[in-house]
Amino acid sequence: MPYCPHCHVEYQSGASECIDCLIPLVAGTPQFCPNCKEFVQENDTFCDNCGVILPREEESDSPECENHPDADAIGGCVICGKPVCEGCSTRHNGRIFCENDDHLNMHQGFVVAYTTSTDYEAEMIKANLEGAGINAVIFNQHDHVYFLNMGVLAHVNVMVPRSQMEEARDVITALLNEEGLEEEAEGGEADT
Ligand SMILES: [Zn+2]
Ligand SMILES: [Zn+2]
Ligand SMILES: [Zn+2]
Ligand SMILES: [Zn+2]
Repeated sequence: MPYCPHCHVEYQSGASECIDCLIPLVAGTPQFCPNCKEFVQENDTFCDNCGVILPREEESDSPECENHPDADAIGGCVICGKPVCEGCSTRHNGRIFCENDDHLNMHQGFVVAYTTSTDYEAEMIKANLEGAGINAVIFNQHDHVYFLNMGVLAHVNVMVPRSQMEEARDVITALLNEEGLEEEAEGGEADT
């Protein structure tokens, strides 16, 4: 059934536009995290919002802790995406963080301004944000062994201080309109 990529409401087949958001529907079934009930992308390994491992349709190896290859990961850090086991993880407000305390602190002060699957696009966005005086930071799941080995979809998140989010959104929107980046990201292959 087609669904709206913005509000995630499902429509009867044949419908082409969300009546609330007035944007084109996308094919498939919206997926929600069993833990926090937030919308998640199909084929994601971890929930972007809370970090738990998402159930997958096909059988696939479950991720291991990046620090302990013998231990199964219980989820991925919501900041850097690193797969961590129970002992290596910290939970805060129902979210999973890795052992790096900076990431827990960052969660309070930083927000995701843009998500892509290509390093190139993330670097480009970061450069433009910095040009506008915004302190942008990149977190790349490609840095983690699990994502490299499995060849699964990895995210590159560009994060900015919460206080600069509005500004950042304007910069990114202007950039996307200018360069038609969105289409390029669809067809582009992730850098290896
Ligand atoms: Zn909608
Ligand atoms: Zn979740
Ligand atoms: Zn982390
Ligand atoms: Zn561990």
